Amino acid sequence: MPIEQATHIIPAARMANVRYAIRDLAVVADEVAREGHQILFLNIGDPPKFDFPTPPHMIEAVHKAMLDGHNSYGDSLGIRPAVMAIGHDAEQRGFTHIQSVFIGYGSGEVIDSCLTALVNPGENVLTPSPEYPLYSAVLAKLSAEPNAYDLDESNGWEPDLDDLRRRINSRTKAILLINPSNPTGSVMSRRTLEQIIELARRHNLLIFADEIYDKLIYAPGTEHVSIATLAQDVPMITFNGLSKAYLVPGWRIGWAVATGPHEVLHPYLEAVHRLLRARLSAPHPFQHAIKPALEGPQDHIAVMNEKLRRRAQLTVDWAKRTPRVNLVAPKGAFYAHPSLDIPEDDLTFVTALLKQKHVLVVHGSGFGQKPGTKHMRIVFLPPEEVLEAAYQKISDFMAERYA
Ligand code: PLP
Repeated sequence: MPIEQATHIIPAARMANVRYAIRDLAVVADEVAREGHQILFLNIGDPPKFDFPTPPHMIEAVHKAMLDGHNSYGDSLGIRPAVMAIGHDAEQRGFTHIQSVFIGYGSGEVIDSCLTALVNPGENVLTPSPEYPLYSAVLAKLSAEPNAYDLDESNGWEPDLDDLRRRINSRTKAILLINPSNPTGSVMSRRTLEQIIELARRHNLLIFADEIYDKLIYAPGTEHVSIATLAQDVPMITFNGLSKAYLVPGWRIGWAVATGPHEVLHPYLEAVHRLLRARLSAPHPFQHAIKPALEGPQDHIAVMNEKLRRRAQLTVDWAKRTPRVNLVAPKGAFYAHPSLDIPEDDLTFVTALLKQKHVLVVHGSGFGQKPGTKHMRIVFLPPEEVLEAAYQKISDFMAERYA
């Protein structure tokens, strides 16, 4: 029998809305690299790719766990010593009414599970704009309605509370905060957090707090406040993990801490736990690094923050002296998100910059932005001499292009 020509396998329609700009641009970068050019990567938040080595005691803990035979699946919610260490650490930082702690393969997986267990098609979660695009990708996968609230660039990228308030509707299930922010590097004030709690309280909304950069604060006088420490009566899920401050993004270890009234959270947490059981467990031996990470030496964090402070300053200084570039100084994480006063869209800008000067940054439109505004997200993890070279190239590119 003749074999029929295969027809296309058509992806689900909802995939049209699943995007991840940070990695999508990497395809163009591969082409540029294949042509033999050396690219300056200012695009991916992966600290150990630069001069931020993993603390050796964490590697030793995982090595020992493997040698000791902890190579089976782990418990679905996470191995006990790790869950206990996360809970203890959260309590020490002022979290109360902890209802559950669960560990996944990266905070990305727990974020996916927490959204999946919450949102029906057509419902919505208030997400910041600009945002870390994982959330929109997962929400698109769930056929949720997009509902993004503005971060106000003219107010240090704090959430625009009027916009947030206006967008709450009968199908809104939760408010997401990313604090410190990817992509802006801003850190939210206590006052803003209190106002958001008030909104959540009034409208019975769950709060998701992505605090994966909470320990990476370098601006003098800036404190990070975990929103979960400010109210016990509002249900909240706080995300964190080992990827950023503990320098092991490739180990894929992240977690969530659920706080708030037990009876309010119980059915939802049951659903999250069911999803976690269905996928068996997070990587087992790597979970053995969680307790040593949280309870062992923390010196590398101070070293990291000092490097980040200098690199942020270098970035701010460059932005100040560069025409068409305006930057709200970042305070935490390792991102800067300057606006660009340019006569073309920001994807065209970053693509041409990559092809002509071999510097890779990500276009602001990949994170969401106000219509008519243009941005680029810079990851300032590379050493100062690399940043200096990259910023000189961007300046040259702009001077030549907009002469
Ligand atoms: N949340 C934010 C705000 C991020 O920037 C990232 C990664 O860049 C993640 C979550 C995902 O981190 P992981 O899955 O490595 O824990």
